[in-house]
Amino acid sequence: MPSYKAPVDDVMFVLRDVLNIERYNNLPGFADAPLDMIEAILGESAKLCEEVLAPINREGDLEGCKRHTDGSVTTPKSFKAAYDQYVEGGWNGLTTDPEYGGQGLPYTLGAVVNEFMSSANMAWSMYPGLTLGAVAALQTHASPEIKRTYLPRMIEGKWTGTMNLTEPHCGTDLGMLKTKAVPNGDGSYAITGTKIFISAGEHDLADNIVHLVLARIEGAPAGTKGISLFVAPKYLVNEDGSLGERNKVACGSIEHKMGIHGNSTCVMNYDGAKAWLVGEANRGLNAMFVMMNEARLGVGIQGLAQSEVAYQNALAYAKDRIQGRSLTGVKAADKPADPIIVHPDVRRNLMSIKAFNEAARALVLWTALKSDVAHRSDDAKARQSADDHMGLMTPVIKGVLTDMGFDNTVKAQQMFGGHGYIAEWGMEQFVRDARIAQIYEGANGIQALDLVGRKLGRDGGRAITAFFGEVGAFIKDHEADDGLKAYVTPLKAALGHLQQATMWFMQNALAKPDNAGAGSYDYMHLFGLVALGYMWALQAKVAQDKLKAGANGSTEHMNAKLMTASFFMQRMLPETGAHLARITSGADTVMGLPVEAF
Ligand SMILES: Cc1cc2nc3c(=O)[nH]c(=O)nc-3n(C[C@H](O)[C@H](O)[C@H](O)COP(=O)(O)OP(=O)(O)OC[C@H]3O[C@@H](n4cnc5c(N)ncnc54)[C@H](O)[C@@H]3O)c2cc1C
Repeated sequence: MPSYKAPVDDVMFVLRDVLNIERYNNLPGFADAPLDMIEAILGESAKLCEEVLAPINREGDLEGCKRHTDGSVTTPKSFKAAYDQYVEGGWNGLTTDPEYGGQGLPYTLGAVVNEFMSSANMAWSMYPGLTLGAVAALQTHASPEIKRTYLPRMIEGKWTGTMNLTEPHCGTDLGMLKTKAVPNGDGSYAITGTKIFISAGEHDLADNIVHLVLARIEGAPAGTKGISLFVAPKYLVNEDGSLGERNKVACGSIEHKMGIHGNSTCVMNYDGAKAWLVGEANRGLNAMFVMMNEARLGVGIQGLAQSEVAYQNALAYAKDRIQGRSLTGVKAADKPADPIIVHPDVRRNLMSIKAFNEAARALVLWTALKSDVAHRSDDAKARQSADDHMGLMTPVIKGVLTDMGFDNTVKAQQMFGGHGYIAEWGMEQFVRDARIAQIYEGANGIQALDLVGRKLGRDGGRAITAFFGEVGAFIKDHEADDGLKAYVTPLKAALGHLQQATMWFMQNALAKPDNAGAGSYDYMHLFGLVALGYMWALQAKVAQDKLKAGANGSTEHMNAKLMTASFFMQRMLPETGAHLARITSGADTVMGLPVEAF
């Protein structure tokens, strides 16, 4: 059975040494979480993930969820006790608003816990993950009364949340959605329609399920400008907060799917269900975007998380499995063969996963810190620039981390040879579980379009200009440093590719939009590589400084950082050139073939 160890040390290195989290101590919640406290919290979270969630990952996969004839759904047997332990530990409220019972600690800490939980048990972690997304949307857009009714119990974890967007005929193009809302005359609405693929739509972990639902109010305009957001609980809530009658929303069926078997994916039938408007009428997509953006970062983290756990198990296997002899002479003379980790091709796979994991983690934490600044700073300029960063980086993190994360689960599976294909080893579960992250929360092709079509040009290109400015300034400050040249020179070339691609879109996409559509996926990955490359350059700088200062017991760790940074710069970052070549080849070969010629 696979095992998992939460990478607390690497997180601490990034937070303390690379991102210098202590400089944010002026933000609300940060002073309550000094470094030793962060380390202690992460240590406790690691225990929960390693000892409670990881051991039930495989049985959750084998057992799956079951829908019963009364419409109820049961999760794998071990899930409820684990969920109760999570709630009792107060984990759900870690980063949420103290006004509603949360602990108000930095979101950054929540992002780390999310990574650990997703590595340990992705299917299970989606129940609290969706709840926290729904909490964020209600917190931002709901009326004080709705907040008072739902937030305390959701933050406590006694009630969970869902996100109901998708319908049978529309997923990406939500402008076509048909679910309708009719005013009841008492301030509430009656919702009727069918939603599909609703994660955690029905289950047995919580006392109530709070559905956030997109619907069209009768008479509202067609398209995305006529969509509103509603809150519709499974059980109506009485004045005193106790649970009242069952609402007219039920799970019609659950999907049998490739992975995340322990998470219920439900068809939800709304049959005049009582609901309340969240935010302004016809501005529902805007309100739902809070939840979607939160969820997109969470899904990006899932990509990293599956890559990390798959890597850990592949590494252990590569040290243990003996096959063949090293090309440079026998390494394990006492054994009939050497462990496969001696072979360069096995190393190539391991190094590329490791180089991704440690940079992706830094990218997530850098962006999570920006999220904290965007939500907590009292400096309007700092808030704006952090918000710009979030907008730009969200599709990159979602798209690139889930694509590379999935590829890495396959690479890690490959390390096991035929055993990787056998269920008992658990590697094929990581592959199956990781795959969905490329699809939901907006398929990755749509993330790329969001980046190129919406985020690049927004506010006169303010966000991308700031990104170029920050990475460019680092390069300028360090390109003359002999010790850092090996990292800064490749980063400079890759940044140049990204700038050329951006310029190419500005010159060639307006007149011919297919040029943007055909190049957007490569652009997202080109962007991702530059962002990951920047994360490696920052880490290399810290490692070099520490080594110069004597490293204080961390010489091996810092040398490993430098070697991994070099691997990334020499073997992964050069892909930016291929992406640029594909982008600037334009749309002609992509679109040239008539449909009937396929
Ligand atoms: C396990 C699971 C859990 C899910 N959980 C939830 C949930 O909790 N809540 C919820 O509301 N939904 C959920 N979904 C739905 C998910 O978000 C959608 O499946 C996804 O957004 C894609 O929508 P679709 O399936 O309708 O595909 P379509 O929109 O039909 O897209 C099909 C393909 O066409 C591409 N495409 C579509 N339009 C364009 C375009 N304009 N340009 C370029 N390419 C395009 C897409 O990238 C995709 O590859 C879940 C789905 C699954 C499988």
